Amino acid sequence: MNAPQHPKIQAHHLSRKALVYVRQSTLHQVFAHGESTARQYGLTATAQDFGWPDSLIEVIDDDLGQSGSSATHRHGFQRLVADVALGQVGIVMGLEISRLARNNADFQQLLQICGLHQTLICDADAIYDLSQLNDRLILGLKGTMSEAELFTMRARLQGGLRHKAARGELATKLPIGFVYAPAGKVTLDPDQHVQEAIRLLFHTFRQVGSSIGVVKYFNRQGLTFPTRPIKGPHCGVVWWTDLSSGLALRILHNPRYAGVFAYGRTRLIQSPRGGAAYQKRKREAWHALVQQAHPGYISWEEFEANQELLQRNMTRHHQGPARMGAALLQGIVLCGTCGRNMSTSYKRRAGGRIDPLYTCNRAKLDYSAPICTSIPGGEVDHMISAVLLEQVTPLAMEAALSVQQEILKRAQEAEKLLHRQVERAQYEADLAKRRLMAVDPANRHVAQTLEDDWNDKLEHLQQAKQDYEARRATSRYVLDAPKQAEIRRLATDFPRIWSHPATSHQDKKRMARLLIEDVTLRRDAYSVTLFIRFKAGAILTRVVRLSRSGNKATVMDPALIAQIDALTEQHTAGEVATKLNEAGIPHPIRGDFDTNAVVYLLKRFKLPSRYQRLRVRGYWTQEEIAKRFGVSVQTVQRWRKNGWIHAVYYNDQKEYLYEPFFEGLPRHSQHQTQTAAASPMAQSLQEE
Ligand SMILES: [Zn+2]
Repeated sequence: MNAPQHPKIQAHHLSRKALVYVRQSTLHQVFAHGESTARQYGLTATAQDFGWPDSLIEVIDDDLGQSGSSATHRHGFQRLVADVALGQVGIVMGLEISRLARNNADFQQLLQICGLHQTLICDADAIYDLSQLNDRLILGLKGTMSEAELFTMRARLQGGLRHKAARGELATKLPIGFVYAPAGKVTLDPDQHVQEAIRLLFHTFRQVGSSIGVVKYFNRQGLTFPTRPIKGPHCGVVWWTDLSSGLALRILHNPRYAGVFAYGRTRLIQSPRGGAAYQKRKREAWHALVQQAHPGYISWEEFEANQELLQRNMTRHHQGPARMGAALLQGIVLCGTCGRNMSTSYKRRAGGRIDPLYTCNRAKLDYSAPICTSIPGGEVDHMISAVLLEQVTPLAMEAALSVQQEILKRAQEAEKLLHRQVERAQYEADLAKRRLMAVDPANRHVAQTLEDDWNDKLEHLQQAKQDYEARRATSRYVLDAPKQAEIRRLATDFPRIWSHPATSHQDKKRMARLLIEDVTLRRDAYSVTLFIRFKAGAILTRVVRLSRSGNKATVMDPALIAQIDALTEQHTAGEVATKLNEAGIPHPIRGDFDTNAVVYLLKRFKLPSRYQRLRVRGYWTQEEIAKRFGVSVQTVQRWRKNGWIHAVYYNDQKEYLYEPFFEGLPRHSQHQTQTAAASPMAQSLQEE
């Protein structure tokens, strides 16, 4: 054994191991700074020079490619500490030994243990004996310096990034739909197909108002969506796949699509267990937000509105998108007792009729408290229908029209996109064919592979064509011109579009929401009070009686009610019922109309009865006439039978109301003048 070359190295050091600790913090450094790694391994020779036998020199390089910030994942460092603690180590060697444990706590621990076991530490500058105060101070200082250096280094790098980011010039990974132009500027992806898919996504979101709705739409229409995988076999190229809700959400939340450069939307949080996770920052805490940094797909205002909507979709106290069911107030109904949102459910009644039910069960769901209120929705919905028909304005008509136009536009866009898929499949098939043609037929194996590929592509093309044709077949129904014209005509006529059988519940709800902000329902024993708050700010109060059997909510066609209203102008309830039955118009529940049904409906929709209408027109009762002329009721009846005065039935028990006539004139002359100027109304009255 050689004599020790250094005064601090003693024989007891040489009898124990010499550990050479080699590390670079990232794999990139391992490859890029190979020189440094070589130097670290060179320490083995230094150990030999100091006099350690080869058998006692050990290299610890487990930590190559591990970051130095924490010791948790650096097994090499842990092994080092363990060996030192067992007293088996004479010297620990490493370039810039202070780097061994940048983290101060780790470093102090190692120093302590080395001191206890009289283990030397050697770096590029010197050998330190930790049982000596001087050496210990110097090393401790180095560790502190190293940590400070790491800190300032990070701050400097981050500062540089942030500075660049604040100007919107930092090049970051672009989401799908954007590419870097050669000059480094961000532009929209020149692939029109990609652009269209993204535009359709935003467009669909505008319509359905939820990310799930967008995903459903794409999948139902058989549309794929572009992605650019960052790993795997399709890394870096545009890859078409089904739209997932995660992807849809990422796109909706990404301000890039509004042409905005944002930096520092998330921060990396180190967990005590050594892991890390990204946490969202509030908008105010973002490092940079540069508007109009590059072209986008939507406006910043739309982006903001989308964020708000997505946020509201997340929280429960929100109306949510209009769903398919019949309950008109789904999502916009509030409990008059506690103010919470009411949920909507449906109850199947005898005869297959399905009634909506508005329930305040939030407290039950949250705290298992009893249900607050439950209100049958049928009658309430009728009232809303009636109110809308009565309150309808040109604005609502415009809205109805735009809903229809949007539906058309979307159908066209979906069709266009499917056509793109056909074009793409065609292109790929052509490409496969050209490849096959170009190959030397003698190269049979390659030719076979290419032929298979071509066949696959042809099959794919066939499928795409089928999808397109199927789509066209269904959309032709929507798109043909007479239909469009009809929709336009309907749109100018709100009552008709509202009661038109082709108008879906969903469209009705959308229309209702265009007009109504929310409706608060308060239930008493036999009635429900509706406080209807319109978008414009007006508030309307209506009371709905609940039929005693509870929830006999019938869906009555407003057009039918209007018809009954019109007929009652000229006919008694029994006659109205007969006319409706003759016209083949069914009663939604009973099938046929009768006197009672008509009387009930007039009452329920607060329409005047036949009696009230005649009285408003000035018709007299026989008692009034008897009193006016000082005769008996029997005399009045005789006058009528003699044709001196005219009367009509006001009900089906053949009770009369008497036509008004001018005082002092004999009945027959009055009658003459009236017939001469007969209005259709007067004529029909006289026919009775
Ligand atoms: Zn409640």
